Amino acid sequence: MVRQNVWNTYDLELQKEVNLFAEDYKDFLNQAKTERECVDFFVEQAEEKGFVELQQAIADGKKLQPGDKIYSVWMNKTMAMFVIGKRPLEEGLNILGAHIDSPRLDVKQNPLYEKGSLAFLDTHYYGGIKKYQYVAMPLAIHGVIVKKDGETVILNVGEDEDDPVFFVSDLLIHLAQDQMNKKASEAVTGEALDLVIGNKPIIIDAKTKKGSAGKKNPADDAVKKSILKLLKDSYGIEEQDFESAELEIVPAGKARDAGFDRSMILSYGQDDRVCAYPSYRALVDYEGIPERTGVVLLVDKEEIGSVGATGMRSRYFENALAEVMNLCGQYSELAMRRCLSASDMLSSDVSSAYDPGYASSFDEKNVAYLGRGMVFNKFTGSRGKSGSNDANAEYIAHLRAIFAKEDIQVQTAELGKVDVGGGGTIAYIMALYGMNVIDSGVAVLNMHAPFEATSKADIYETYRGYLAFLRYASL
Ligand code: MN
Ligand code: MN
Repeated sequence: MVRQNVWNTYDLELQKEVNLFAEDYKDFLNQAKTERECVDFFVEQAEEKGFVELQQAIADGKKLQPGDKIYSVWMNKTMAMFVIGKRPLEEGLNILGAHIDSPRLDVKQNPLYEKGSLAFLDTHYYGGIKKYQYVAMPLAIHGVIVKKDGETVILNVGEDEDDPVFFVSDLLIHLAQDQMNKKASEAVTGEALDLVIGNKPIIIDAKTKKGSAGKKNPADDAVKKSILKLLKDSYGIEEQDFESAELEIVPAGKARDAGFDRSMILSYGQDDRVCAYPSYRALVDYEGIPERTGVVLLVDKEEIGSVGATGMRSRYFENALAEVMNLCGQYSELAMRRCLSASDMLSSDVSSAYDPGYASSFDEKNVAYLGRGMVFNKFTGSRGKSGSNDANAEYIAHLRAIFAKEDIQVQTAELGKVDVGGGGTIAYIMALYGMNVIDSGVAVLNMHAPFEATSKADIYETYRGYLAFLRYASL
């Protein structure tokens, strides 16, 4: 069975809609390159749309009614949004769950050093990257430095036209004979991914110079000292403040249309913002009061195994749900268990798009294609489906009926050929509650590369699919 190209199903009017949605999506990509920036973006937008913060609602003793909108944030890096439905919560939720962390380089806790008159920040990569892809390109620094007194300094350098950028140097080709003969996984090592951040020594005043003549060279670490002075003057931070910082190094630059026909988007961080954004939009664009409570869950740490207090494996969501049920006057341990097990979820995550240049890595019948619609992965994992959430046939049949009703173009896929690799999502974690979950989202070409490609038509179709899911799941 061959799926048709989604563009064939769109008239000119709908193509305009597709492009408008893509513009909104690109704005989001440009404003939100880290999980913290994603949370900030969605909170600001949600408040404009009438969502109320959970702790505030608790403090106000608010009684939630069908149609009420509420959101909750945890540690500035993960969040959940709820639109309360008409039915009792113990009948379950319709959940769209995406992750908002992406592969990148993180700055170490004691990062600053100077060598060869260059100042560097030492890094530790986060998530699955081909290390050689991160050299010799403009990079930006995003993140926070939290000072001992609790003050948070926000850093975002490298995105504005006038901003400086940073880079990781690569060995010149002229001397790269040894490097070029290495395996791609070893040509650039993790410890080689240090960021160049300066080259100008601090200006030593005449007195100091005089005083030091013939003794210790006053120019020792002068470039590093110069950077420290700049950081002090610009942000009021000391070298030790890096200990309590979370600084992420990402490719600099904006999301761009790709192709003469502008049918695609090339951008950093589309895994998984390309599913997070349509999930969010589906919830806020939903017209009327849903039958079942609609939820968008945006989590951190998926790329390193969903660990930590802001990853899907934490109890955060359960805790937030308990509070929401309580505000609805419907909380009991039993009601919450019933709610979770009766829920339906789309684990909104990306799948690999077929790459003709590497055709032998894919089963051409069972892979997603750019431009052929919303993707369903019954299972992910690796080897013999190890680590996957193998969605139930009955659930998939139910979803097929929903998407047929709304004429959503869908395609089913596996990541690649059997035994060539694999990957995971958050699906298996929510399945622990016994709820129905399936991975469903947008196909991505050159996933986890500094710039990933997606189809505008797939993004729009996935948005339509998420809307249909919120409306009809379990009805
Ligand atoms: Mn993902
Ligand atoms: Mn990923």
